[in-house]
Amino acid sequence: MKLLIFGPPGSGKGTYANLMRKKLNVIPLSTGDIFREAVKNKTELGEKVAEFLRKGELVPDDLVIEVVKSELEKIGDSSFILDGYPRTVRQAEALEDMTAIDAIIQLIVPNKIIIERLSNRRICPKCGAIYNLKTLKPKCDEKCDRCGTHLIQREDDKPEVIQNRLERYREQTRPILKYFKGKVPIIKVASRKVDQDPKVVVDRIIQKLRDLGLIG
Ligand SMILES: [Zn+2]
Repeated sequence: MKLLIFGPPGSGKGTYANLMRKKLNVIPLSTGDIFREAVKNKTELGEKVAEFLRKGELVPDDLVIEVVKSELEKIGDSSFILDGYPRTVRQAEALEDMTAIDAIIQLIVPNKIIIERLSNRRICPKCGAIYNLKTLKPKCDEKCDRCGTHLIQREDDKPEVIQNRLERYREQTRPILKYFKGKVPIIKVASRKVDQDPKVVVDRIIQKLRDLGLIG
């Protein structure tokens, strides 16, 4: 089973992909994670990617395509769920040459919910622990449970920045969904609660995959 997942920042894509790994044995592939890993390990690819990130530029299509292609070759015939790709129509076309996608999962989350969720997120600058002032509160004030460090808000999680990220996501995704429309089934799953239980969403996704005959 070969799946794509689309969802705005803060929609919990990573969580869903990991739950689906457990339930369906699909490998979660996130281009963001792949890039971060490559940069960290200073691979040849990582050096190239790091250069664009340093300049604050988007990683060019050719490079992204090359990365995804090599990842897909690595996993062979295994089932996967791809997150963060394709971001452009050109990347979508390249993907079609690499493999046939069985379904696209589109997570629909209202802006209001995303903003509420992300603007309450706090991270520990020392150990990286993640909290949420509404749904996953630290025990004591805004201090890390593990190491006691004062929690901070990521620059990316400030409301005005979130708004921009959401707009960028929608502008980017619209043409891609349009590109696949009629070619690949698109499963739409909505999450309209701030404290949505991810298991419920994943069960709904699985039911829809079953309806499509993709799982027995
Ligand atoms: Zn900490």
